[in-house]
Amino acid sequence: MQIVTRVDLGSYVSGVLRGEASVLQAGAARQAMAILARTWALRWSGRHSGQGFDFCSLTHCQVFAPRQGTADEAGDDLDSAARLTRGQVLQFHGALADPYFSACCGGMTEAAGNIWPDRSQPYLISVRDPYCAASPHNSWNKSLPAESVRQVLQDVLNLPAGGTLTELSVAKRDSSGRALTLHIVAGGSRTIDANQFRYAIDRSLGWGQIQSNLYVIQREGDTWTFSGHGLGHGVGLCQAGAEQMARLGVSTSKILMTYFPGTEIVSSFVDEDDPIAASEHFELIYPASQEPWVKQTLETLEQWQKEMAPHSAVLPGRMRVETWATTEEFIRATGQPGWMAGSSDGSAIALQPLALLSRKEILNQTLRHELTHLIVHRLRAKGVPRWFEEGCVLYLTGERVDAPSNLRTTTAALEAAITRPGSEAQMHEAYAQALKRVSQLAQNGGETALWRVLTHPGADDLQWFEK
Ligand SMILES: [Zn+2]
Ligand SMILES: [Zn+2]
Ligand SMILES: [Zn+2]
Repeated sequence: MQIVTRVDLGSYVSGVLRGEASVLQAGAARQAMAILARTWALRWSGRHSGQGFDFCSLTHCQVFAPRQGTADEAGDDLDSAARLTRGQVLQFHGALADPYFSACCGGMTEAAGNIWPDRSQPYLISVRDPYCAASPHNSWNKSLPAESVRQVLQDVLNLPAGGTLTELSVAKRDSSGRALTLHIVAGGSRTIDANQFRYAIDRSLGWGQIQSNLYVIQREGDTWTFSGHGLGHGVGLCQAGAEQMARLGVSTSKILMTYFPGTEIVSSFVDEDDPIAASEHFELIYPASQEPWVKQTLETLEQWQKEMAPHSAVLPGRMRVETWATTEEFIRATGQPGWMAGSSDGSAIALQPLALLSRKEILNQTLRHELTHLIVHRLRAKGVPRWFEEGCVLYLTGERVDAPSNLRTTTAALEAAITRPGSEAQMHEAYAQALKRVSQLAQNGGETALWRVLTHPGADDLQWFEK
């Protein structure tokens, strides 16, 4: 039985990130992978057209992992990597690049032409990568008994290997140092392809015995030991290196230019052809149906940005705001529950359909709320809980919360309810409590006190957070 599902390109990219890039933690590395996943999808769409779909969900295409339930923290970040790179692809001289990647290159990436002669590209050359040195995949050892190697040669590769194995060595290496062919003496003498050997060992002894072709072979008595570097073919982006670069603050584009020299990131918006409206600080991506509310949205955002000065100086020069045609699309794209009006992360704001917010008369309030989140979130010091951020946002936007605020809960329960509310009612209760606590603080010290506690909490503030 085969299940075929239809997803938009953005959701496909998110799903591929869940399948192929869940080990990556740093935003810039995830965004680099999002650009590769999108480039690959556009380059190869229709490769299964004979079977009635574009892509399978396995390694043959790209591993696609659908969302499980609502987004957890990690899923959220993977979605935002897809969203923040929306429409961006990797190109070489105006054509989509071949976006290869592997888990760890072991210090030197592989030139595509070395292993796949028909896929040689000027940007898929071997580059030195000092960044993946600390990866657990960078160095490995594998010892194999001579008898099992001989058996594999005989059974899987059909080689006449009647005698004992007396020699196993790299006969030829490619320009990256990876083994191309191996010299084998077991009775007779033979030269075999290194990839073929690696796959044969994997097939009969289990996956991942020999992690890459970047190795040296040593014999000790009846044992042959492979000492190697890296995991995978090593062509294109090295995930371990990209992660390390991102942690050091290297940008997404620098990461991609390192592994694909000579390419460029191009915003193509192929298949994601929603219009974009821009104002001085905001870029609003919206489906055509939401057009009537676009002007008001941008004006409200610009105005609130001004009113929040000087604190809004912490915001990036340009912020991305996105909205969808239906609540269902909003849920699918953001992973937020349907009763959330909007959400924000990093430098992006996601909104329910503008038409819906306008009808409920909460459009301006939601815009102010989410924009204030971006500011407060960026200023929030370590140790300051999420409930305090939420309370500050509600206080600063002057929102009223219609829910009882006199229920006693622990701060831990409040923090949980704010981070992951189980229902709309629970969220409103948590909001009311957060607002009440923050208002009490503001009553004594004014708004200045809020900003001080948010950015430079003292020991007694940290204690108060726990009370
Ligand atoms: Zn496939
Ligand atoms: Zn590497
Ligand atoms: Zn909020």
